Amino acid sequence: MPVGLTSRTEDMLHFLIVGGGIAGSACAFSLQQAGHQVTVLEQSAGPHKSRGGLRSPPNMTRILNQWGLEEGLSRIAVKANRFTFLSGSDGENLGLFVLHDKLMKSLLADFYYIQHGDLLTVFQDLAKKSGVKFQYSTKVTSIDPWAGTVTTCSGAKMSADVIIGADGYKSVVRPVVVGPQALKGVRDRRVSVGFTIPTDSMRPHEDLEPFTESPEWTVWLADDCSMHGLLTSSKRDYVLVLNLPMEEEHVQDPWAERPPISSELLRIDKFEPRAQKLIRLARSMTKTDCIHHEPFENWVHESGKVVLIGEAAHPSVPNGTHNASMALEDAMTLATLFSLPATRSQTPMLLAAYEELRQPRCATTQASERQKRDFVCIPNGPEQRARDAGLRAAREQELLDWDDASEGYLRVTWEEFIDLFSYDAREAVEDWWTKWGKAMHNPRARPCSTSNMSKFEPPLLEVDVVREMP
Ligand SMILES: Cc1cc2nc3c(=O)[nH]c(=O)nc-3n(C[C@H](O)[C@H](O)[C@H](O)COP(=O)(O)OP(=O)(O)OC[C@H]3O[C@@H](n4cnc5c(N)ncnc54)[C@H](O)[C@@H]3O)c2cc1C
Repeated sequence: MPVGLTSRTEDMLHFLIVGGGIAGSACAFSLQQAGHQVTVLEQSAGPHKSRGGLRSPPNMTRILNQWGLEEGLSRIAVKANRFTFLSGSDGENLGLFVLHDKLMKSLLADFYYIQHGDLLTVFQDLAKKSGVKFQYSTKVTSIDPWAGTVTTCSGAKMSADVIIGADGYKSVVRPVVVGPQALKGVRDRRVSVGFTIPTDSMRPHEDLEPFTESPEWTVWLADDCSMHGLLTSSKRDYVLVLNLPMEEEHVQDPWAERPPISSELLRIDKFEPRAQKLIRLARSMTKTDCIHHEPFENWVHESGKVVLIGEAAHPSVPNGTHNASMALEDAMTLATLFSLPATRSQTPMLLAAYEELRQPRCATTQASERQKRDFVCIPNGPEQRARDAGLRAAREQELLDWDDASEGYLRVTWEEFIDLFSYDAREAVEDWWTKWGKAMHNPRARPCSTSNMSKFEPPLLEVDVVREMP
């Protein structure tokens, strides 16, 4: 059994997971390891093999390591060394963030780039080996949360103790859980366009050759748009993402591969020659838009039988740093909670704990991701000049050794990153259990009103365990 997962020894549950993407497959694998029976219903005909890139920040790599995937990861991932910011129009090196060895060692996990399809394959293989059943070409069309059943496109009805909505950005499970809030949102004024170039086709171009070797994450900051690039698949592919103003109202299936979009729509003229050359090497593109919602109030239906994870629970700007990391933190949190010695009747309490642990963390991360995306897309003008001046001023500090840089600079620059990177999802559950495990084992502990799923009432007489939920 992979490190970090113990198995519940009684009251095993049947979980039905809607969606076999990264959140669904990782959650399936980890819940099955925790002793439960898991079935995944996936609408696509088989495991999709997207060649787009994901970033695995230390908070995600930590989970992969805890699941014993460290060795496998080193075969498919590229270890990042720095983030470099270039002027989009002329390629001037504006600034950088160095992932100093000392910092990464203290975080006990590295920052990696991984191909989306590679990571999905890892989880689907692990899940299948653990005994998870995958049903492909099975689109879920409706859910009855009180009965704990789903209906599929063929009209079949399936039931489970818990239904997990891991069906991504356009989730069908979400409206059932969050209600009218699912319909309220504002369309992002930007669209994200991704494409992958084999590094073999870049090497003949002398000016592109350095991008085929350097494990840095390169970000071009252009007028009202940006592009970033990184290596995946043991440096066989270079993955690029453009963030552009949305030109058309029409929206296509997210992540669907299409022929290259016209140069004009791609704002190619805003970029320096190397970036233009890279864009012209693309043979297909994926275009993904998004709708911003206020963080959803509920992730668990009041029946206590349906829960959301991944993009279904917390849709974020596409191609951000933390989309996959939040999905894996969700999976680790849920599986660790369901590996605790609890009974079947305590399922709603564990789901409430999941919601309580995950909501604030994901809301902070969603806001931070959007703000970082906007920071790299500022239109030319005073705000952009101030940003570039700040990056230039920080360059000297960044080039210094970690020990020599000023403490004030490091605090301001790294505080937010360190908060995001140092989170340990398993440890968060362990802390929760230390506080609440004793109360859960008291037979008088009971779920309170189903409209307030995020709390359960500890027994009133035992004053030592009566305290605020974390
Ligand atoms: C094909 C694809 C390629 C992607 N490529 C990238 C990339 O290159 N870079 C990047 O940063 N992010 C990519 N993403 C998004 C990324 O996976 C997510 O942002 C993040 O990992 C969280 O994933 P998720 O599992 O919550 O959602 P998703 O990855 O969107 O997975 C949701 C899954 O649910 C399935 N599904 C949806 N509705 C139903 C239904 N009604 N019934 C049954 N199944 C359903 C979908 O087919 C999909 O497999 C991609 C997503 C997909 C689906």
